[in-house]
Amino acid sequence: MGKKFVYLFSEGDGSMRELLGGKGANLAEMTKLGMPVPQGFIVTTEACTQYYADGEKINDEIQAEIYKSMEALEKIAGKKFGDMEDPLLVSVRSGSRASMPGMMDTILNLGLNDEVVEVMAKKTNNPRFAYDSYRRFIQMYSDVVMEVGKKYFEELIDEMKEKKGVTLDTDLTAEDLKELANQFKAEFKAKKGFDFPSDPKEQLMGAIMAVFRSWDNPRAIYYRRMNDIPSSWGTAVNIQMMVFGNTGDDSGTGVAFTRNPATGENKLFGEFLLNAQGEDVVAGVRTPETIDHLKDVMPEAYEQFVEICGRLENHYRDMQDMEFTIENRKLYMLQTRNGKRTAAAALKIACDLVDEKKISEKEAVMMIDPKQLDALLHPQFDAKALKAAKPIGSALPASPGAACGRVVFTAADAVEWHEKGEKVILTRLETSPEDIAGMHVAQGILTVRGGMTSHAAVVARGMGTCCVSGCGEIKMNEETKSFTLDGKTYNEGDYISLDGSTGNIYGEAIPTVEATISGDFERLMGWADQYRTLDVRTNADTPADAMQAIKFGAQGIGLTRTEHMFFDSDRIPAMREMIVSKNETQRRTALAKLLPMQRGDFEGIYEAMQGMPVTIRFLDPPLHEFLPTAEADIVALAKEMGLEVADLKATISSLHEFNPMMGHRGCRLAVSYPEIAEMQTQAVIEAAINVQKKHPEWKIVPEIMIPLVGEIKELAYVKEVVVKTADAVIAAAGSDIHYKVGTMIEIPRACITADEIAKEADFFSFGTNDLTQMTFGFSRDDAGAFLGSYYDKKIYEQDPFARLDQKGVGKLVETAVKLGRQARPDIKLGICGEHGGDPSSVEFCHRTGLSYVSCSPFRVPIARLAAAQAAIKDEK
Ligand code: PEP
Ligand code: MG
Repeated sequence: MGKKFVYLFSEGDGSMRELLGGKGANLAEMTKLGMPVPQGFIVTTEACTQYYADGEKINDEIQAEIYKSMEALEKIAGKKFGDMEDPLLVSVRSGSRASMPGMMDTILNLGLNDEVVEVMAKKTNNPRFAYDSYRRFIQMYSDVVMEVGKKYFEELIDEMKEKKGVTLDTDLTAEDLKELANQFKAEFKAKKGFDFPSDPKEQLMGAIMAVFRSWDNPRAIYYRRMNDIPSSWGTAVNIQMMVFGNTGDDSGTGVAFTRNPATGENKLFGEFLLNAQGEDVVAGVRTPETIDHLKDVMPEAYEQFVEICGRLENHYRDMQDMEFTIENRKLYMLQTRNGKRTAAAALKIACDLVDEKKISEKEAVMMIDPKQLDALLHPQFDAKALKAAKPIGSALPASPGAACGRVVFTAADAVEWHEKGEKVILTRLETSPEDIAGMHVAQGILTVRGGMTSHAAVVARGMGTCCVSGCGEIKMNEETKSFTLDGKTYNEGDYISLDGSTGNIYGEAIPTVEATISGDFERLMGWADQYRTLDVRTNADTPADAMQAIKFGAQGIGLTRTEHMFFDSDRIPAMREMIVSKNETQRRTALAKLLPMQRGDFEGIYEAMQGMPVTIRFLDPPLHEFLPTAEADIVALAKEMGLEVADLKATISSLHEFNPMMGHRGCRLAVSYPEIAEMQTQAVIEAAINVQKKHPEWKIVPEIMIPLVGEIKELAYVKEVVVKTADAVIAAAGSDIHYKVGTMIEIPRACITADEIAKEADFFSFGTNDLTQMTFGFSRDDAGAFLGSYYDKKIYEQDPFARLDQKGVGKLVETAVKLGRQARPDIKLGICGEHGGDPSSVEFCHRTGLSYVSCSPFRVPIARLAAAQAAIKDEK
């Protein structure tokens, strides 16, 4: 026998989620538990995959299986589909492995047509109910299967209510509803050019195909990308016999959670409506009653429901989200699933379930989605105010949190307004390292260009500042300091708000509230720390960032990007002087000015880290990033340095590169100008010695990291400079401090020659931002502009800069790990690219045997939890 594509509820169980989808598996499980579930059957996720493989067709074999299962259901129900005596109606609902908003949800009352509705009316002696069901069916089917928008039908309902002088749908009579059903069909024909399908079998296949199609609609694709769900999973379809909540006041329908999904409180939470079908509760046409009210109107059904809730929660050992219908006082369960919840609720529920001895600490750790923790670490919008606001645009959610402030267009203005006590949103075409001071004081950052690892995104995440990037719809006018979006112009000083978690942009002020970290959070992180084997470090460039990261549990610094230290207004002149120097002597003079500042920076960081390991990376960006671009700034710099403007311009243009990301940067700078590496080494070692002297209880071992190495001789050359300088400084100070010299692995050539490179490196830190860029051959700053088409065409399903591409980039990492260990078994291995804070990439790092991941301070708790989950998964 071939593959089985359709299962009756009674043939499945809760363990068959992959095949039956979450909804289907749970309906089968509830059936197995003897709960009152209207019976039905499930068309499997494999049938969905087959549908796509067959060119978006349900093949004959699967169609035959569906009809056979319908016959089996008819026997169970004692009714017949499309029958003229006792018709069976069904609901059709989607249900993938993971619950996925954005896909087709539900069609109710399928199987009705002009004849069947008459039979229903007579048989139930309730024509109002029959016609109400019919008009609902036409409306839903037209909307979700045939793509005729709901609104046309809603307009007709409103017209009818107005004509009849009533306000509620429930006040419409059987005649009114019959008339509406006719109007709906006419509307359908007008829109589609053919009749509404009256054959129940055709309706059924149409609905199943619509569910399959919805697996690939743009909303579903977007949701999958955000939640790491592969498109190969497919969705199942649930066909379930209808029970009716709209037969009168002895019936109703509702939704409930076993605990409060917003707070986690252990109390039944839900809503229901009398004389209604499911969509009424969701659509908000009528205001539902709280679930407690059910106790007053139908005490027996309520008692039974409460008992089932308890059993389901104990069975699944998690908070349940359930749908139910009561038909003529009899309760039916239509769905149960682990309920979605806020981050705070998730933590409370996990801790409570441990205290109630329902789950173990390990299970509690596995229960929390690491990405959800983000919400607890950043300011959030006031929920009510947010609900009332309407976005004027939306772009990449580059760094989470909520921000509200006045628009400014330059980093200098941001600083100036900030000093006046104003909250600002820095809005730029794109950001560059020059903007760092402005970014620091801004509540939020909005850019017109740039992807998830653009400068703005990386820096904003590092600082924990909200950032929305790549909003191409913005028409920017830097001259007049204004931008236009959604038809309106915003000038400097106007209020806007940004949601860095959704990417939404609002043209008004929305108040924000500080997020609070509850005790449950700490408790759960404590459990996570017991299980994880990966260390979690942070990427931090300032003592403030370092201290923030320690609060979040960082065990060291995996990456200090030293370039950010040179942009402060008191340093940039010396930096620029160094860059435009004509010879080594001039350069050394400028570097000597930078030395004390740099040493001070490192002392601050060593102090903040209290003896924990700190990896300091030497200068990485191309030097022209530090030079001014605006005419006035160039003139000012020339004056300051006693140079001719033309001369300075010539120097600046000589530094111009067509492809700076592949240009004169990283260790190439130290190869050309070893004195830069000398200065940085001296600063690191002197700072370490000074702080060590002050704190003999700490054991400071400086870790110096050379970026962008692709060839062993390159590393050997720069290392020699470092070692010579460091040893001289140590000898001069009479210190016995030890230090390490390692390298970033961020060029494919370094990965495949890692055995050679390891001979010169005490440690490797994978710079997966550059490694991804160079492996794919597309720019981390520009890829955002075209990756959208790649997602639409399913060439890539994920942003490789956000989630490590394990197949390609991952293979290079694995190769480097293997080769590196061969040459130096005790080599320390870490990652400091943005992927170090992404849960699925953290899991990869665990499996690959790295010693630590390093990520921005605000992602440290996420990485800790993800590392624990990876370790627990590994045990199994
Ligand atoms: C990297 O390339 O992954 C990295 C951490 O370095 P940067 O982002 O500073 O280039
Ligand atoms: Mg890099």
